Amino acid sequence: MTNLEEIFKDHIRDVPDFPKPGILFKDITTLLKHPQLLQMAGNDLVRLALELELKIDIVAGIESRGFMFGMFLAERLQAGFVPIRKPGKLPAATHAQSYALEYGTDTLHIHQDAIPSGAKVIIHDDLLATGGTAAAAAHLVEKAGGKVVQLSFLIELAFLNGRQPLEGYSVGSVIKYS
Ligand code: AMP
Repeated sequence: MTNLEEIFKDHIRDVPDFPKPGILFKDITTLLKHPQLLQMAGNDLVRLALELELKIDIVAGIESRGFMFGMFLAERLQAGFVPIRKPGKLPAATHAQSYALEYGTDTLHIHQDAIPSGAKVIIHDDLLATGGTAAAAAHLVEKAGGKVVQLSFLIELAFLNGRQPLEGYSVGSVIKYS
C-alpha cells in the first residue's frame, strides 16, 4: 500500500449498519471535503485511464456517487459524460438493465441515444463491492452501442471478489481494502 493510499484511507469514514444492518458503509464525503485529497484522488483515476493509452470518447458515471469523479474524469480526458441512472430519472427513451441485489433486484437506465456507435467508454463508480452494479452498467453501455474499455472505481472492497462478474473487462481502482 502506498503512503497516499494510506492517507486516503485515513480520510474515508466507516459507518456501520448504513443503509441497512450488516453493511459497513465507506463514506467518502470526509475525503472529498479536503481540496488536496480531492485533487490527488481524481489525478489517480485519470492516471488509471491514461494507462489504457486510448482516446476515450465517453465517461459513463453510475448514479449518484459515480457522478462526482465521473464528471472530473470526463473533463480531464476531454471525453463526454453520460449518466447511468436509477428508474424514473432520465426523461427520454432508455435502455434498462436489471440486476440481482442481496434481496430482490434493481434496475439501471441509460438514454438510448447517449453513446455513439463503437465509442470507447470508461464506466466510473465510487466503489466496487460485489460487482453486480458495474456488470449491469457495462451491459447497458453495450446495449447502447458503446465499447467498455475500463471499469474505474475510487474504492475496491477486494475481499468481495467484485472482479469476478467483471471478467473480460479491464478494472482499475485507487484504494483497495483486502
Ligand atoms: P456492488 O453492486 O455490490 O458492487 O455495489 C456497488 C454499489 O453499491 C456502488 O454504487 C456503491 O456506491 C454501493 N456500495 C456497495 N457497498 C458499499 C459500501 N460498503 N460502502 C459504500 N457504498 C457501497
